Amino acid sequence: MTRIPRSHPRYQSLATRARLADELRSGIVVPEGLIAHGRAEAFDYLLGERTSPSASRAIRAAARWLRGARAPAISVNGNVAALAAPEIAALARALPSLTVEVNLFHRTPGRAARVAARLRAAGVPTVRGVRPTARIPGLPSDRRLVDRNGIAKADVVLVPLEDGDRTEALRRIGKRVIAIDLNPLSRTSIAADIPIVDELGRTLRGLTAAIRTPRTRPGRDPFPAFDGAAARAAALVTISRRLARMAGRRRPRAGPVRRRRPPARPRP
Ligand code: ATP
Repeated sequence: MTRIPRSHPRYQSLATRARLADELRSGIVVPEGLIAHGRAEAFDYLLGERTSPSASRAIRAAARWLRGARAPAISVNGNVAALAAPEIAALARALPSLTVEVNLFHRTPGRAARVAARLRAAGVPTVRGVRPTARIPGLPSDRRLVDRNGIAKADVVLVPLEDGDRTEALRRIGKRVIAIDLNPLSRTSIAADIPIVDELGRTLRGLTAAIRTPRTRPGRDPFPAFDGAAARAAALVTISRRLARMAGRRRPRAGPVRRRRPPARPRP
């Protein structure tokens, strides 16, 4: 692995990139995954690389839905396994009813097995989806392949770094969908019941903490309404405020006005 000096001002970002590049070589991540990460990095940069108050609210709502679910499931692709296997293991410990299921757009049996092995090595006791036993109707890609006892029978599905087609297909078959996606404009964010517009690792850590120490008692309704459009709008407002602030700083500072010398009078 490339050695990145800890003192580098963008250490975290560079270390994450190096990890993904390594996982490309190990066959967990595919080249397309690097491009998806690049897009997410750009959004994280614009959002200020921290969890916004609105994302925190979405995380708390998602924790409540996951706690209230009869059969919650998380869908794991290559980037998710590469970036957050320990966080998924911690979430599964906090929520023992959670099914952890591998789901890949670029699926080969070998890659599915490698992703599952990575999750097990991080401490996830059971990983489904390596040998799919059911299909999501109306979805042409390999992401339709699911486990009969996992995502197929889940009532709430957590989809980090998902594509829009599958999110919409999951909604069509009646699943409640919670998305983790830094892009508030993606079809996934738009289609999800609860779009969490935040970085994967921060979200999973926040979710685990919120599940372990809930702020509210379970109410009668396990799935209280959540305004996804307002959450996406709040993310866009965060971005536009930051951009406006940054643009303001770039304006030339008001300082002493330099007077231009008047043009020399023509001599008589
Ligand atoms: P959609 O079909 O939903 O419009 P897409 O096809 O543009 O999405 P994909 O490449 O399928 O996007 O999905 C990847 C999504 O995951 C991107 O929107 C990207 O912003 C997001 N993403 C990637 N890495 C992270 C991360 N570490 N944390 C949060 N979101 C991420």
